[in-house]
Amino acid sequence: MTAKSKADNSLSLATDYRPLELEKEIREFWEKNQIRDKLELREKDSKGLLGYVEGPPTLNGIPHIGHSRGRVMKDIRYRWKTMQGYYVPFWAGWDCQGLPVELEVEKLLGVKNKRELLERVGEERFIEECKKVIMKYHQEWAEADSRLGIFINQKKAYWTYLDEYIEREWQYLKRAWEQNLLEEGYYVVAYCPGCQTSLSSAEVGYEGSYKEVEDPSLYFKFKVANSQNEYFLIWTTMPFTIITDTMLAVHPEAEYVKVKVGDELWIMVRQRVEPVMQELGIKKYEVTEATLGKSLEGTKYDYPLKDIIPGQAELETKHALVHTVICEDFVDVNTATGVVHLSPGNGEEDFWAAQKRKVPVFAPFDDEVKFTKDAGVFNGVFARDADYLVVEELRNRNAFVAVKKVTHEYPTCWRSHHKLVWLARKEYFLRTDKINSKVLEAAEKIEYYFEEPKNRFIAFLKEGKPWCISRERVWGTPLPIWTCEKCGSKRLVASKAELIKSALEKVPENFELHKPWVDRVTLKCEKCGGVMRREDYVLDTWHNSGASPYARFTGEEFEKFVPTDFLTEGIDQTRGWANSLLLEYVILTGKPEGPYRAFLFQGLTQDAKGRKMSKSLGNVVETNKLLEKYSADLCRFYMMRKCSPIDFMNFDLQELNRRSYQVLSTLYHLSRFFLQNAEFDEFSPEKFTLEWVSRADQLKSADRWLLSKLQEKIEEYTLRLERCEFNVAVAILEDFVIETLSRLYVPMIRKELWTDDPETFERRQTIYAMLHYTLKTVTLLFNPVTPYLSEALYQKVYKKLDAKLPDSINFECWPIPDEKMRNKALDAEFEVLFKCVSLVYAARQQAKLKRRWPLSKVVVVAPEKASDALRDQELLFLELGNVKAAEYAGQVPDYVGGENWVSASEGDVYVFVSGQRDEKLLGEGLMRDLARRVQALRKDLGYVPTDVLDAVHIAELDDESMGLLESYLEEMAGLVRAKKVYLHGSRGEVAAEWHESELDGKKIYINIH
Ligand SMILES: [Zn+2]
Ligand SMILES: [Zn+2]
Repeated sequence: MTAKSKADNSLSLATDYRPLELEKEIREFWEKNQIRDKLELREKDSKGLLGYVEGPPTLNGIPHIGHSRGRVMKDIRYRWKTMQGYYVPFWAGWDCQGLPVELEVEKLLGVKNKRELLERVGEERFIEECKKVIMKYHQEWAEADSRLGIFINQKKAYWTYLDEYIEREWQYLKRAWEQNLLEEGYYVVAYCPGCQTSLSSAEVGYEGSYKEVEDPSLYFKFKVANSQNEYFLIWTTMPFTIITDTMLAVHPEAEYVKVKVGDELWIMVRQRVEPVMQELGIKKYEVTEATLGKSLEGTKYDYPLKDIIPGQAELETKHALVHTVICEDFVDVNTATGVVHLSPGNGEEDFWAAQKRKVPVFAPFDDEVKFTKDAGVFNGVFARDADYLVVEELRNRNAFVAVKKVTHEYPTCWRSHHKLVWLARKEYFLRTDKINSKVLEAAEKIEYYFEEPKNRFIAFLKEGKPWCISRERVWGTPLPIWTCEKCGSKRLVASKAELIKSALEKVPENFELHKPWVDRVTLKCEKCGGVMRREDYVLDTWHNSGASPYARFTGEEFEKFVPTDFLTEGIDQTRGWANSLLLEYVILTGKPEGPYRAFLFQGLTQDAKGRKMSKSLGNVVETNKLLEKYSADLCRFYMMRKCSPIDFMNFDLQELNRRSYQVLSTLYHLSRFFLQNAEFDEFSPEKFTLEWVSRADQLKSADRWLLSKLQEKIEEYTLRLERCEFNVAVAILEDFVIETLSRLYVPMIRKELWTDDPETFERRQTIYAMLHYTLKTVTLLFNPVTPYLSEALYQKVYKKLDAKLPDSINFECWPIPDEKMRNKALDAEFEVLFKCVSLVYAARQQAKLKRRWPLSKVVVVAPEKASDALRDQELLFLELGNVKAAEYAGQVPDYVGGENWVSASEGDVYVFVSGQRDEKLLGEGLMRDLARRVQALRKDLGYVPTDVLDAVHIAELDDESMGLLESYLEEMAGLVRAKKVYLHGSRGEVAAEWHESELDGKKIYINIH
């Protein structure tokens, strides 16, 4: 025996299931014996490789139970597939860069915005602070993984901020560049004034980013140029965009009218006249001439704020269409006035309308979305603060009609919750719109397990918008594009070596691929010899993490592991990681293929009342704090059992300890029950194998039934895991442990173990072999879900009985159902049997006949098939029902009925039992019951079968029982091999070491010596 397995044997199974202690012990066992590391060595002996890329958690916060739920699903898959013989690179990964981390650091440094950050802190120190923060949170995550028993390999983790990762991320951009999919463009993007950066369209659509906000609802009018009294009537909720107004748009095919209000004629679409007049409270008006929208095209209007906005005055000189009506199909004639003002600097459609006509874009904003001096009197005003200033200026110029407030849903920043502003900015784009059909084709090939999340994902992908990947931030992968100051030509550099080689000046020692160091590198323009400088952007953090399938591996590993077999992340990653992975992979490979073959979107986790977990509500359940007090196995079991992985889960601490504890504790005690008995009888799993059992011919029908049931459960359970129906899978195990094993099978065999009669030795070994095989199989099946308990039982029960077993349960093979053990006919018979036994119980209950009291007869009235089944299993039927004889009939016999009989029925099966107590039977039954307890006690106390006891004392039985027993004491003494059996009213009557037992819910005491 090696020193190590000796150490394992020193582990022993405590009387109670105390998961916290047990988990600590097992955690130390895994560490000391490097179990996780050893699994890495099995790649070459595996039956296949299943690729995996970790969806990297962002290191900007503390892990909570929602994260843990997803990590448990990953771990289940890993442990299970590993036991099936596959090799999975289940290696950690950490999302380190990007806005979320920057904002966390800004908060810690007490900095309000980017400008203050750059002035007060500077880029260099800021980068160092970012690194400190991710390291701080990484500790929390690693600890949570360790406590939770997540077998992810931390040593092989990837970090998205390291140079080698960034270099490989750049390869994606290089591929995009070569395919003309990476473009610079002036483009309208959603911009967060708080974070001072643009957002991708995916981010704009994030869950919960639309908030109810209050905005002005403004009607205003622009005068038709050179007219006396004609005006276009227009509506907006963003008056500040009037500052950047460039054109008006009408629908070409809609009918427009002039509405006479007072002395003025207002132009608007006909179908909106009545509702708008009503809204404005104008009762006296008259509709005059009508015309089609297209006849208004080219009409000039007087832009009213020209005198205070110099940029607008200048704009008019640049293009003939500025401040003119154009026709566009996108104009909605069912809302407002059907006349739309266009601000290409602040709206996406507006922008495209201007682009088409080559009308210049007027976007006088700085990085904080404050107007610049081109906006004249509005210089320095934050865009959204300009709303009411604009209203005032319109009022002064007879351009104002009415204003009130509206509340409506408006997109806000998912991080900082500022109202987003649409702005035309110069950005870099991945033209994913050009490859949309490939992306969709790739997405269709992927397995999603459930319809709803699939439809949601595909619907989102169909939007197919270009992906704005540039961010005006600091802590991120630098955009590796250098532009020539002189001739404007651009160069993409996709490796550190190339950069160092091409740099105009020698790069310093501490050079890394981050701002500010990378910005200091200048290159020589190959076209004109001018100096090239880097474009001052970092990449969208989703691009950073989305590069992981390529960036986290070496070239060789990438070939082996990608596309991956399976990935899973929260449903909030529909627009996040699931999306960026797919887009980038299609760009990288140029093929309609995803980097994953299957993706499980998990539902989010809420508090017990179904509320979102949030800092402000104070209802966030932090994993590490939780696991200080609660068992990891219980959490894992509970979270998987409670609902489907795609459901939103209400995490309830009250529930956690109830059913889950019952199930795991039952498995624990069954295992302990098996071990104690098996050790007593010196059971050896090597000797008493299932083969031995079949040769010894000691199997009873209950054993065959159990074997058959187990095969069915192995198959069902594995299938459900395969379909990611973890809740259904776990319920199958639960049912097998609680119902099949604990409630049905063990009661059928328990009594046979209460004896130590040498004559039944083989039968007892058969039962141990059965329990050994069944419980070990169940323990293996439990391993992915409850790895601590499974490992503990494996070490303390199975490895203890057989030191030659592998070092850890994780090196075991996944159970495979054995068809030879399946017996459907027997399953059916047992179903009838259990049904009739519970009918007997029901009948007993009516007559208040305790189960312990033997009955003389049961009459079963049932169809032939059911009766046959019972006849086949009659011994068990009588034993379980505690009945002396059974009779079967097609209809109720004459002698049955009357007051003495009670019955119960289900469907076409009736059972009748006589309600009359039979004193003789009662006495004998009680005696046998007590005799079995004495036998068990003999065993517990270590008496060998041939020892004869001097005396057995039984104390504190009730008077009735003592009376019933009186004439059976001699027989009992023979059964338990004692010279004499004594009964006592109370324990005080003899000084003895009493052992507590229980009869009909009342305590009794036994002593033997
Ligand atoms: Zn923001
Ligand atoms: Zn040049």
